[in-house]
Amino acid sequence: MGPPGGGGGLVLAGRGYGGRTGNAGHIGHVVADADGDPCVCGGRGCVETVASGPNMVRWARSRGWQAPEHADAAQLAAAAMAGDEIAKAAFERGGRAVGRAIVGVAAVTDLDLAVVGGGVANAGELLFAPIRAAVAEHARLSYVGDLRVVPAALGKDAGVVGAAALVARRDHGVRTG
Ligand SMILES: [Zn+2]
Repeated sequence: MGPPGGGGGLVLAGRGYGGRTGNAGHIGHVVADADGDPCVCGGRGCVETVASGPNMVRWARSRGWQAPEHADAAQLAAAAMAGDEIAKAAFERGGRAVGRAIVGVAAVTDLDLAVVGGGVANAGELLFAPIRAAVAEHARLSYVGDLRVVPAALGKDAGVVGAAALVARRDHGVRTG
């Protein structure tokens, strides 16, 4: 069984890479903030704690977002789209964490494509703009300079279902969480 939270997969040199237990690619548990909140995995400060829908909603609430009861990521996205600064900041914070994690994985594995899907990714540019900003800021090694990050809808050839799939080198395969 995989870890709780954001799934993912890793495709290296065109082949799915599962790792020792089949869990490779769970980018949601890359540490984003060593002093961050406890994560469902038992760790602390994982990307999941900053970028999952429920955790973005919780963060926005803690900052004063006047959320409807049982608000979810879609409502947070709607608020951000309507100009709510706290809601926008929640996506900025989450997206940047995802982007930094992708860059780190890319530096380790020489990726050229990261496909991001799942509920939070439905927020579109609210999430992808900060992801790309973080990638532009941090992907400075020559071999990760052309790293692309695309929504799962545009990466459908890869058949991605997980929260993030990380792909290297002419890939047409799939690994999902
Ligand atoms: Zn975790």
